Amino acid sequence: MNENNKFSNITPEEMWKWHFIEKAYRKIMKIYNFKEVRTSVVQPLSLLEKIYFFMDNLSDNNINDTTILKIGNESSYGLRPDITISIFNEELISKMSDPVNRLFYCGQIFRNLKNNISQHHQFGAEILGIAEPLAEVEIISLAIRVTRELGLKNLQLNVNSYGCPKCRPNFEKALKKFIIKHKNKYCESCVQKIESQNELHKECTSEKCRAINSEAPKITSYLCNDCKNNYTEVKLMLSNLMIDYQEKPHYENNFRYYNRTVFELIAKNGEEEYRLGGGGRYDSLAKHITGNTLPAVGFSLNSFLLLQLLDKLKLLYPPKPEFHVLLYAKNLNLNITFIHIAQDLHDHGINTVFGYTGMKSAQETEIAKKENCQAVLVIEENLLNSGKIKYKDLTKHLVQNIYLQEIIECIDRQRKIYEVEE
Ligand SMILES: [Zn+2]
Ligand SMILES: [Zn+2]
Repeated sequence: MNENNKFSNITPEEMWKWHFIEKAYRKIMKIYNFKEVRTSVVQPLSLLEKIYFFMDNLSDNNINDTTILKIGNESSYGLRPDITISIFNEELISKMSDPVNRLFYCGQIFRNLKNNISQHHQFGAEILGIAEPLAEVEIISLAIRVTRELGLKNLQLNVNSYGCPKCRPNFEKALKKFIIKHKNKYCESCVQKIESQNELHKECTSEKCRAINSEAPKITSYLCNDCKNNYTEVKLMLSNLMIDYQEKPHYENNFRYYNRTVFELIAKNGEEEYRLGGGGRYDSLAKHITGNTLPAVGFSLNSFLLLQLLDKLKLLYPPKPEFHVLLYAKNLNLNITFIHIAQDLHDHGINTVFGYTGMKSAQETEIAKKENCQAVLVIEENLLNSGKIKYKDLTKHLVQNIYLQEIIECIDRQRKIYEVEE
């Protein structure tokens, strides 16, 4: 995996790693009864433009048209920058007739931040149709279970409430006042962030800035009763489930599309921190997009980051190699026999690797090793004349000439022994 290449392709050799994490995703989604959805990568701009304001590091103040990767100049389509948004595709949402929908997805997303185009791999889940805090807890517990399934232990769950359109403006007013009052005391990069995005630079490492930030208004002090009750109930349920969490009252950046509960999952590896993903409730956004009241909660994980972490922690386990047979003919004129035998092997569900016609024994050894072949079948003209074929059992180092009618029996017997011995 090359983390520097934003558009890196996944080679056949690396595919098992992706299958490894996707298997864990699917296992947990099945337990929670979530249904997979595959949305189109290409979506109408009219839909995508509705989420300008919820892109990472982008606040309401600097919305511009560079964030969505448009297709062509005059097109009214773009690439999805997030899978959540594509779930609200008009055609898809119109087909969801159930009052509650539990959905999950894996796929690529494309972002275009200030002409810096990038591809990400996202895995996520959404619950549409439940307004109660139970949905938040279900999503959080599910997200944690996925990471645990993958063997991750040192996980930190941060939670906060991001209020609602009713109570958040009061907090924003207080924050603005605070910023104006303290602006001169901040470092240059903080001032830049404040001026461009009207928010505090929470990642600033300066001790002085951090000290000022810690005094900034907390959104939790401004929550209305409904939001407060929702937040309390979520925390109560998490405690009941023995799910450890840390409250991050200053944690409200990059969550402009959420309302009420927000959370993020941080994995630690020594000094390194991996922000694997997060989520929350986004009723307001769902209403903004669909025009209807639609309670919604979701989360997503950065699959690429997750893979990098699992790789580092040596938590990726390759699957056990399956039984394979290598088949090839000595001469081109034996191709008809070759294809008949291959078909017979395929009919019996035997994994068959095709060798090159007339290949040398060194090549045979090389391919057999690379493709994990336990048996080799060589079609030779002189043997074929007496209805036979060369069969090599590589596990027992046995070479014998067998009748064509015996191929399936011999290979199948060897395969069964191999599978039992595994
Ligand atoms: Zn509220
Ligand atoms: Zn600073």
